[in-house]
Amino acid sequence: MTTNDCERKKRLLFVGAGHAHLFSLARLDRFLRRGIDVTVVSPSPLWYSGMGPGLLGGSYEVAEASVNVRSLVESKGGCFLEGKVAFIDPRKRLVRTEDGTERAYDALSLNIGSEVFSTLLDGSPDHVFAVKPVSSFLELRRRILALPPGAEGRLAVAGGGPSGCEAAANARELAERHGRTLRVTLAAGAAGLLPYLPLKARRLAAAELQRMEVEVSERRITLVSGDTLVYSDGSTGRADFLLVATGVRPPKLITESGFEVDEEGAMIVDEYLRAVSSDGVFGGGDCIAFRGAPLPRVGVYAVRQGALLFANLLAYLSGSRLRAFLPQREFLSILNLGTTGLLVRKPFVVKGRFALFLKRWIDRRFLKEFQGHAAEKLPAPPTGDPDCGAR
Ligand SMILES: Cc1cc2nc3c(=O)[nH]c(=O)nc-3n(C[C@H](O)[C@H](O)[C@H](O)COP(=O)(O)OP(=O)(O)OC[C@H]3O[C@@H](n4cnc5c(N)ncnc54)[C@H](O)[C@@H]3O)c2cc1C
Repeated sequence: MTTNDCERKKRLLFVGAGHAHLFSLARLDRFLRRGIDVTVVSPSPLWYSGMGPGLLGGSYEVAEASVNVRSLVESKGGCFLEGKVAFIDPRKRLVRTEDGTERAYDALSLNIGSEVFSTLLDGSPDHVFAVKPVSSFLELRRRILALPPGAEGRLAVAGGGPSGCEAAANARELAERHGRTLRVTLAAGAAGLLPYLPLKARRLAAAELQRMEVEVSERRITLVSGDTLVYSDGSTGRADFLLVATGVRPPKLITESGFEVDEEGAMIVDEYLRAVSSDGVFGGGDCIAFRGAPLPRVGVYAVRQGALLFANLLAYLSGSRLRAFLPQREFLSILNLGTTGLLVRKPFVVKGRFALFLKRWIDRRFLKEFQGHAAEKLPAPPTGDPDCGAR
């Protein structure tokens, strides 16, 4: 694409800087070289959720588990607006941020992840944490370490999926290592632990949690009030901290902006990762779904979609052909169970320390490309506008 004074530059807007956008953000200069104006609206930093339980357990430093989105975007010459988008008007091709700033676009890519929606989060803010945002793991860690030595703390985890199991194990490991007494209970609900994983994985995880003295039950936590918990069987219990790991759904912004969504509120896309209901809108990660065939909300898919989103956004803005996304059927999962890892790649299930090392190696290697973009490297804003370009 060529531009001259008479021809308006095309405007590409990235909403959210999640796993599915990292590939593009590290290559923003490729858009700029084609005369495309690029703006990214997102909170910064991006927390790498796969490392969240490890942040709780203390196996990662904050800088290792996060990406400074502002530095990454600005080091590649893009415009970064810190904050969240509050509304998208796909008809007018306009977004409004939470502070009221408006931005028009020719192409928009949506990667705003997912959130925990649970009534358990409504009360007792002092006691209740969620597995997202990942920064809450840091606060929970701080609170566990603030327990006076000798006093018994109680952590209840709601949800027996991967993040609930990982968090329970890492909290126990943290307390153990720092000489704190922490009783951990995990309410997995009737489906039990890790219902979507093979039986062998479920058994190995249950045995490991039992070894770590995490008490697992098939009850659900239905209510929290102060430090009192009410369970689905009518019994009650007490907890100093409750961690809610009951599953995630896309943010309401998508439905509220009028996109066609599935029953969980994910934006429906076609095989090119293009919104079916609005021209010029693409998306990736936890916030999208293929009609009738939603993918599990795991980072593996978000990361795989990243390279394709990059190619298709470039193709869309330069009028060339789009490429289709072909989701892989199976993927590798490794659970961080504190001192050991549980590797699942159907049909293989293996538990051991090497699995934990492998997970850490994969995660660190992936993030390295996006970290360490020093602010000093910043070029001048592409448009010369201190507010990163006119609408
Ligand atoms: C505790 C935990 C552990 C996990 N471990 C693994 C694992 O080991 N392996 C794996 O494959 N998957 C794992 N997952 C799942 C995986 O993390 C998600 O599938 C992945 O993060 C999805 O990435 P994403 O790109 O969709 O969004 P995210 O990476 O979550 O990023 C979304 C970004 O959008 C921003 N945002 C939100 N709303 C707005 C808005 N309105 N405007 C602008 N920006 C916005 C958010 O602040 C965030 O920075 C884990 C999840 C959790 C909760």
